[in-house]
Amino acid sequence: MIYVISGPSGCGKSTLIRELFSRLPGIQFSVSHTTRPKRAGEVEGRDYYFVTREEFQRMVDSQSFLEWAEVHGHLYGTSRDEISKKSRQGDLVLDIDVQGARQLRKKLPQARFVFVVPPSYPELEKRLRQRKTDSPETIALRLKNARREIEEASNFDYLVINGELTQAVEELKAIVLAHRCLFEQRQKEFKEILWSFKSWP
Ligand code: ADP
Ligand code: 5GP
Repeated sequence: MIYVISGPSGCGKSTLIRELFSRLPGIQFSVSHTTRPKRAGEVEGRDYYFVTREEFQRMVDSQSFLEWAEVHGHLYGTSRDEISKKSRQGDLVLDIDVQGARQLRKKLPQARFVFVVPPSYPELEKRLRQRKTDSPETIALRLKNARREIEEASNFDYLVINGELTQAVEELKAIVLAHRCLFEQRQKEFKEILWSFKSWP
């Protein structure tokens, strides 16, 4: 299953996804392309594929992206290659903005869409400041955009409120686990169980 995770910058998407991966095996992360400069600690190919505007534009022109958008002044996109390569190997998580999520609603109707919110606007401001990755101007832009982005929440399937981190991770984990428990997803395992009932003397 593909999980599209969206929400205002600083609400905690990356943190939640990191925690989810450490608690639940068998999930992959869709690494996006971006023209944003690399932050301290970020790794090429793990966090993003960092490219120039020219390289990004070439990929747009050759239709290499399943979706892309300009977000807070930089370009971000999900490549078709990344999705086709990783969606075959089990669950896949995308961390993308609301414009990208809107594009994928039509292109990946089977995906599950999760919106993450902080408990309040002042808490979002605090988190963006405490993260210490962005300039005051960038933080101001991200906060301004957050007021618009949050209006999109009702178009998503799930809402995760990232107040207390452990609780929010449990909620995200529950969304993934509930899908893994669907009868349709478990037919292979069930067949073996059923076979043991039928073949046991
Ligand atoms: P996003 O990926 O949505 O931009 P981050 O995961 O980078 O957000 O989180 C922004 C900041 O908020 C980080 O400094 C992170 O450590 C902090 N943070 C994330 N979740 C919580 C939480 N539940 N409580 C307090 N701080 C949090
Ligand atoms: P950041 O610069 O903080 O890593 O990300 C800024 C915003 O860009 C976040 O809302 C993040 O979800 C979004 N984003 C990251 N990758 C993509 C992508 O491939 N497509 C789109 N549309 N948004 C993305």
